[in-house]
Amino acid sequence: PTPEVWTRVDHYLTDTLVGHDAALEAALTDQSAAALPAIEVAPVNGKFLHLLARIAGARRVLEIGTLGGYSTIWLARALPEDGVVVTIEAEPAHAELSRANLARAGVAGRVEVRVGRAAEVLPTLAGQDPFDLVFIDADKESNTLYLDWAARLGRPGTVVVVDNVGRSGQVADLDDSSSQVVGVRAGLEMLRDDPRFDATALQTLDRKGWDGIALAVVR
Ligand code: SAM
Repeated sequence: PTPEVWTRVDHYLTDTLVGHDAALEAALTDQSAAALPAIEVAPVNGKFLHLLARIAGARRVLEIGTLGGYSTIWLARALPEDGVVVTIEAEPAHAELSRANLARAGVAGRVEVRVGRAAEVLPTLAGQDPFDLVFIDADKESNTLYLDWAARLGRPGTVVVVDNVGRSGQVADLDDSSSQVVGVRAGLEMLRDDPRFDATALQTLDRKGWDGIALAVVR
């Protein structure tokens, strides 16, 4: 298919099953106005994350990579009143915009935005109740580090989602040695080899293009 066709299908599926939401759409408008990159998940994937959190009965969610809080809003809305999303963002300006977006969406009380590099923030989360779902969507070079923390901060049954594992097919192009692709591949190999995980991955084709998500459960 051509980009026009899959974009049309994505809009059709979004209109049919996801619908439109003022706070989510305003979050994207303000993200764009602030010149942040449009690298948030597509609406169908935001709803997919939301449904996964509900299916898992999640109360505690960890997100690595907040951007403007678009996926964070989807995740927070899946939680009970006393649930929490801890979301980690390295860029202070992204974190600040996400706080405004989360407040407008009415979920600020259920989200803790931690500003800093995830490698430094993650160790500070040890010793709390385990996370029920972990969404990894930051610097792909660090995916194996983040998977290790997902297992350590999770429990048997914790759901782990890794975004952008298809990368327009680059993941299976063994001549591609860009750091992001190498990082994604290392993460997938860890999901295969590390006995703490059981995993699969799906390709995705939506308004963001051809990509994929890995889905794992902590054993
Ligand atoms: N999850 C968001 C969504 O779908 O709406 C999109 C996140 S965006 C793809 C990746 C974000 O991770 C960016 O805002 C970037 O600043 C942040 N980031 C990159 N490296 C990071 C790191 N080492 N620690 C924490 N955040 C990082």
